[in-house]
Amino acid sequence: MEEYDIAVVGGGPAGIMAAIVASWNSSRVILLEKNPSPGRKLLMTGGGRCNITNLKPIKKLLNIYPQKNFLKHSFYTLTNEKLLSLFEDKGLGFIEEDDNRIFPETERSSDVLEILLGYLEDVDVRYDFEVKSIVENFIINDEITVDKIIIATGGVTYPQTGCSIGNYCLTSQPLTDIKYGLVPLITKKDLSGIAGITLYDVIISYNKSKVQGNVLFSHVGLTGPGIINLSNIISQSLSYNLLDNEPDVDFEIAIDLCPAFTREELQKKFTIDFQSKGKTMIKNYLKLFLTGGFIDFFLDELAIEGETQLSRIDKKSKNRLIENLKRFSFEIIGFNKDLAKVTIGGVDLANVNPKTMESTLTPNLYFAGEVLDLHGPTGGYNLKIAFSTGFLAGLSASEN
Ligand SMILES: Cc1cc2nc3c(=O)[nH]c(=O)nc-3n(C[C@H](O)[C@H](O)[C@H](O)COP(=O)(O)OP(=O)(O)OC[C@H]3O[C@@H](n4cnc5c(N)ncnc54)[C@H](O)[C@@H]3O)c2cc1C
Repeated sequence: MEEYDIAVVGGGPAGIMAAIVASWNSSRVILLEKNPSPGRKLLMTGGGRCNITNLKPIKKLLNIYPQKNFLKHSFYTLTNEKLLSLFEDKGLGFIEEDDNRIFPETERSSDVLEILLGYLEDVDVRYDFEVKSIVENFIINDEITVDKIIIATGGVTYPQTGCSIGNYCLTSQPLTDIKYGLVPLITKKDLSGIAGITLYDVIISYNKSKVQGNVLFSHVGLTGPGIINLSNIISQSLSYNLLDNEPDVDFEIAIDLCPAFTREELQKKFTIDFQSKGKTMIKNYLKLFLTGGFIDFFLDELAIEGETQLSRIDKKSKNRLIENLKRFSFEIIGFNKDLAKVTIGGVDLANVNPKTMESTLTPNLYFAGEVLDLHGPTGGYNLKIAFSTGFLAGLSASEN
């Protein structure tokens, strides 16, 4: 039987970070990864560019997360400055894009992974090693005994990266419902004719929840940052648990295509313009409000002929135009689950000490990353969770 002080299960960003930090204080650390290579999901992040974190000031940053109180200590322990300096010290700089999103200047997630792996020099790393059983106090797969374990096995989405529902059952720690997060939506209506078109900065509503952002039409439905951020709210509002069942998806979302105008302002503007620009065709007039490629689809849906001159549009059609500019609805019949970027739910935070990431039920058992009931919107917020909780788990496991 091999012996180690600390075993980290899972070679994603959370597990790699935990193993690095644990090895600063402890000489016998082992990292166990079931894939032949580590960080497969990390390599896919940001479209291969790796949106590594978000540079909002820490208080503002914490406010983005539903679980901000739990995350506070880990975010203060590994600040963004400290995180980025780990890479800058090895020669990798960063660029900031809109909404404080941070990417490596080389725009390659493989550069981020390579530097992280370089820090593992004092860690025994075992690939192709799937942890199947952890017996109390702690024996892994009947092969390795360890004093402490850090579980960083990730979520359920993108199974090709090593994630699976079974990863949640390695310990008997209580779990919250496991759900899809940051997931594109499948519409009843065929949108393939407008696939690739983006609506910029619209407001999307689901029941009473609203999110402002871009919507991208895909071949099967709706995606883009606005939609996938709203999907977290939607998914949480549905009653299901992937450990038992898939969600029953059938609801409506509405898009305010013209957030810059109220209904009343549109009424006034239409009344004036329909008189003064009477000869203008409606499809050209709508360019004032809508992305070019979307106008034909919009008018088809309203059964209004695009070449109709404004002066010939009757009151009923005018009101329908205004109503739909402010509230254009789509029936949603599914989550495009193969593209869900994160998992909502996981190890219940009620039984994890936020100052150490140690289980309050099982001493010497720690958790880090997406396996915990933690998630954020798109924009670098999820890797931020992985790195911060991984850092704190590695530090506490090796210091205590
Ligand atoms: C397409 C895509 C793009 C994304 N882009 C971004 C982005 O730009 N910015 C951002 O902040 N977030 C992004 N995310 C989310 C981010 O990638 C995850 O939140 C993050 O990878 C979670 O890290 P983790 O270490 O907790 O889990 P993971 O990265 O999932 O790593 C878990 C590891 O554990 C291993 N493992 C699992 N079970 C076992 C076992 N039993 N034994 C041994 N090993 C095991 C797995 O093989 C895997 O390597 C993206 C996600 C996807 C899918």
